[in-house]
Amino acid sequence: MVRIGFGYDVHRLEEGLPLTLGGVLIPGRKGGVGHSDADGLVHALCDALLGALALGDIGLHFPDTDQQYKGINSLLLLEKVMSLVREKGYEVGNADLTLALQHPKVAPFISSMRASLSSAMRITPEQISVKATTTEGLGLEGREEGFSAYAVVLLYKK
Ligand SMILES: [Zn+2]
Repeated sequence: MVRIGFGYDVHRLEEGLPLTLGGVLIPGRKGGVGHSDADGLVHALCDALLGALALGDIGLHFPDTDQQYKGINSLLLLEKVMSLVREKGYEVGNADLTLALQHPKVAPFISSMRASLSSAMRITPEQISVKATTTEGLGLEGREEGFSAYAVVLLYKK
């Protein structure tokens, strides 16, 4: 049995905050605002995994009113979501992620992101794709007010 999931996330960007995407710290003048480390790429992936099994979303499992998740490394949330996926008897076929961010250029960090995500998920880097695009200066991403992330995953029953 095969199941597909989709995830989407947006975070605001502010000066002077660290920017963590896919578990990798990206140098730049702005970073994501959020209760956790604001790693929207990981959050979109978590939502896709949960969505594939109709298990709700990241806000349901890790509420932002809960102090234990304040500033948390989102890779730890991803590990917890993967435990749920495996408890249900599913394994990841592949995941495909897209990040929409105007600035800075993240191309040099893509392979590190794939390594950190696949390590947290205990899958191979070949099973996870990370792509990045600008929005050509348009919208919230183009104005550098924030970034958005999209993820699709395919799960199969072991
Ligand atoms: Zn988020």
